Amino acid sequence: MAHVLALVLSRGNGPAPLLYSDHQNSVDLIHDILAQVSRDSRLRNMNGRSYYRWILRLAQERPTVMAYTRGHSAELTVPAQMNREADYYASGAQRHIELVPVAPTPTFSMDEYTLYTAADGWIESNTRTFVDFFMSQHTASNMAFGYRMRMLTGIYDTLPPPDYPYSRALSAHSAVVQLYARSGQLPTAEALASRGKLPSSLCRLGCNAVESMQHIFVDCTHFSQWRIDTASELVARTAVRLNEAGLSDEEQGSVLLAAKSLFSDNAVTWPLRMSQYFLFPSFGFIEVLVPK
Ligand SMILES: [Zn+2]
Repeated sequence: MAHVLALVLSRGNGPAPLLYSDHQNSVDLIHDILAQVSRDSRLRNMNGRSYYRWILRLAQERPTVMAYTRGHSAELTVPAQMNREADYYASGAQRHIELVPVAPTPTFSMDEYTLYTAADGWIESNTRTFVDFFMSQHTASNMAFGYRMRMLTGIYDTLPPPDYPYSRALSAHSAVVQLYARSGQLPTAEALASRGKLPSSLCRLGCNAVESMQHIFVDCTHFSQWRIDTASELVARTAVRLNEAGLSDEEQGSVLLAAKSLFSDNAVTWPLRMSQYFLFPSFGFIEVLVPK
């Protein structure tokens, strides 16, 4: 940007301006390109190419001499002293950033098609990484919101699910059950009926409801007593751990509430208003309900 500014300010009649810079790369590049050495191919993949194109356009309009001067030098030559002065004002400007005018973005010298997002601005380089990132994000959000939000675990915990339920499973059965639950492949009546393996998707334990994972693990009355007993055991064990950690009653409240409401559709514990404890392998409850 400093090059652009210098070239704009030096416009007019008179001798060709002499422009010093301590940025060796840009001085070399501009030299080469002004000498017409493989101009387009040099710039095609370069970071900040729109700025270089802008500089070159200005430098071609008016012959300019670019010269390199070493940065942070104690020499007493005029270029070294001018460089020190420029550095001094540049670092001073950091303390008054609000007074520094915003540099325009050279959209006029960008590639014909350039990626843009409101959050990131113009993306001139590493477009492959950029596109990859947005495609994975898009796929992840599709997966999260489809499949009955089974993959939307990020709202509870942004860490990837631990792999120990698989790598340290007590049996192959428990690892498979976990894998089937997360991929929606447990043989519920709903899944089997949708594949023509059962005539009805209603609960095989007699409820007037579709036998989905949600139904079996959270709603099915057949397992109500198990949920009540396990929740109270969980609350008791959690209370012991919290007491050992020396937490006050107040601090214990929210953790105990979470333990108590783990198996029910409590809006505080479960922001989606539906309990998904069976998707969290670390709980290890799921095996109890799935017949071997
Ligand atoms: Zn049922």
